[in-house]
Amino acid sequence: IYTSHVPDVPVFNMSIFTRLFSSRAPGDVGGFPGAFKAYIDATSGATITRAQVKNLALSFAYGLRDHPTTHKFAERGDTVLIFSPNSLAWPVVLFGSIAAGLRCTLANSAYTSHELAYQYKDSGAKLVLTTEEGVSTVREVFAGLGLSKGEGDKRIVILGDDLRWAGGPAGTAGPAAAGLVSLVDLLGRGTLVKEETFEGSAANETVLLCYSSGTTGKPKGVETTHQNLTTLVDIIIPGFSLPPGTRPMLGILPFYHIFGVANILTFSLVVACAVVIQVRFEPVQFCANIEKYKVGFSFVVPPVLVVLARHPAVDSYDLSSLEYLLSGAAPLGADLVVMVQKRLLSKRRPGAKCCVTQGYGLTETSPSTHWLDFDVADRKVGSVGHLLSNLKARLVEDEDGKIDAEEGQPGELWVQGKTVMKGYLNNPTATKNSITPDGWFKTGDVAIRDSEGYYYIVDRRKELIKYKGFQVPPAELEAVLLSHPSIADAAVIGVEDVQEATELPRAYVVHANPEKIKTAQAKAAFADSVVKWMETKVAKHKFLRGGVSIIDVVPKSAAGKILRRELRDLAKEQMKRG
Ligand code: AMP
Repeated sequence: IYTSHVPDVPVFNMSIFTRLFSSRAPGDVGGFPGAFKAYIDATSGATITRAQVKNLALSFAYGLRDHPTTHKFAERGDTVLIFSPNSLAWPVVLFGSIAAGLRCTLANSAYTSHELAYQYKDSGAKLVLTTEEGVSTVREVFAGLGLSKGEGDKRIVILGDDLRWAGGPAGTAGPAAAGLVSLVDLLGRGTLVKEETFEGSAANETVLLCYSSGTTGKPKGVETTHQNLTTLVDIIIPGFSLPPGTRPMLGILPFYHIFGVANILTFSLVVACAVVIQVRFEPVQFCANIEKYKVGFSFVVPPVLVVLARHPAVDSYDLSSLEYLLSGAAPLGADLVVMVQKRLLSKRRPGAKCCVTQGYGLTETSPSTHWLDFDVADRKVGSVGHLLSNLKARLVEDEDGKIDAEEGQPGELWVQGKTVMKGYLNNPTATKNSITPDGWFKTGDVAIRDSEGYYYIVDRRKELIKYKGFQVPPAELEAVLLSHPSIADAAVIGVEDVQEATELPRAYVVHANPEKIKTAQAKAAFADSVVKWMETKVAKHKFLRGGVSIIDVVPKSAAGKILRRELRDLAKEQMKRG
C-alpha cells in the first residue's frame, strides 16, 4: 500500500459552499479580499468579484426558493440539471444551487435530446438550467416524457446572455426565452441570509452528479459529496505554488465535466486566481484570450496542446504570459510536451518559463488523485505525478486484489481516500463492482510507479474510450447501433490517433442480411451510411471518427462478453494494411 510523500492535511466536514465562501476576517470571502476578481467573461470582459459571486449565489438560491414557479422544484435535496456551455452564469447558478442545498447534475451541452432525457430521468432532476440554444432540446425531452409545453416550461430556467447583473451588456433575449423564468428574474427577489449547511455527517450528502460509465456499461450518476470536494480543494492546494493573485487562468474546459467544476470553478477560489471564462475551446479564440487577458495558466486536455504545438494562430498572438499548462482527462505523450515547450519558448527571452505538466484522476475520484508538480515536470515528463496527500494507492495484479504488482511492474491502480465518490446513483451493483468492501476504488487504469513514487499510466483495463477528454462509453454506442434496422450485432472500441493526441471510436458491425452487401463496394457504402446515421443519433464527441468495419461475427467469450482486445488487434492490423 502506497501513501503520498506529501504529509496529510486536515480536511473538513462542511458544505463546499461554506468551505469556499465563509469569511475569516471582515470583508474577506473565503480568506481573500472580497474585491478580488473571481470570474471574467472573455467575450464581454464583464467581471465579478469574490464578494459578488457569493452574493449573487445567495441571491439566486433565494430566488429559486421564492419564485412562484421554481420554488416547488428547489427544496433541499432536490436535483437541478445544468445544461449549458461555459458562461459567467455558471459559478452563480452552480454555487447558488449548492447554497440552496440542491444537488447539481451536469450534462454535456452538446447532448441530443435522447442523451439528455436519459440523464434527466436517471438523476431524478426536477429543474433544468439552460441557455437559448439548449431550450429546444430540453423541450423535446419534456415532450418525450409526456409533459405539456406549459408544464415543461415551468421546469426551465433560462440563463440568457443578459449580463447586467455583472456590469456587462444587456444581451439579446431571443424568442426561445419568451415566457420562461430567467436567471435575471431569480436574482432580483432577495437573498438568503446563509447557505444551507452540511456539517458533520451531512457533509457526506451528494452535491454533484456527473455521469461516467466507469469500467463498463452505460453512463451512471457519480455521487460526489460535499466532503469529496472540500477534501479535493485542501489536498491540491499544497502542490500548487502559483503566486496568489497574479495572472488569471483561462477556463476553456467544459464546466459540466468534473475537471471543470472541481479544478476551474472551485479550486480557482482557493488560490486567488481569476478565471477568464471562454464559452468552449476554439484555437484562435484561445490564443486571442491569452493575449488579451495576459493569461498565466490553463487547465487543458492533450488535443489543446496539439493546437499549441501546430496551429498557425499560435504565431499570430502574444502568448508570452502563459507560464503553466496542466493537462488531464486523457493520456499525454512526452513528445507533445516537448513540442509545445519548444514552440512557446522559441519567441521568448532566455530564461523564460513554460511549464507543461499533468494530473490524473476520474469523475469517481472528484477528480484528481495524482499531480505532477511544476518543479519536476521536465525531469518526469510522461508521468502523471505523485499520489496526492490523504490518499492511499495500490497497484493490483489480479481482479480480486489479492496480489500486488512488484515494484516497477504494472498493475491496476486502486485508490482509497475521502475524495472517492459515495457510489453510483441508484446502482448498488455497479458501486459494489467498483468499490471493495474496505473502500478501495478500482480505476480500471494500469499504472507503473517508479522508485521515487512517480506514477505512469500505461494501459486501460476498462472499456472506456476517450475522445479529446470526453467519455465515449462503448456500451452506449453499441445499444444505439443495435437499434439500426440492418445491424444484427455491434462492438465499439477506441483506436489511437497520434496526430490529434486522442482516441477515436470505431465500430465493428454484423449486417442483419449479409447477402445484401457482398461486394467490397456495397460493404464500404454500408459502413459509410452507418457513420452518417450515427451522426443523427449522438453528440459530436461520440461520432464514429475511427470508422465502421463489417465483420461476420463479434468475437465474444463463453459468457457473452465482447472480446475487445481481439478487436483492438484486428484494428491495428487493418490500420497497418491501410
Ligand atoms: P473521466 O471520469 O471522464 O475524468 O475519465 C477518467 C479516465 O480518463 C481515467 O480513468 C483515465 O483512463 C483517463 N485519464 C484521466 N487523466 C489521465 C492522464 N493524465 N493520463 C492518462 N489517462 C487519463
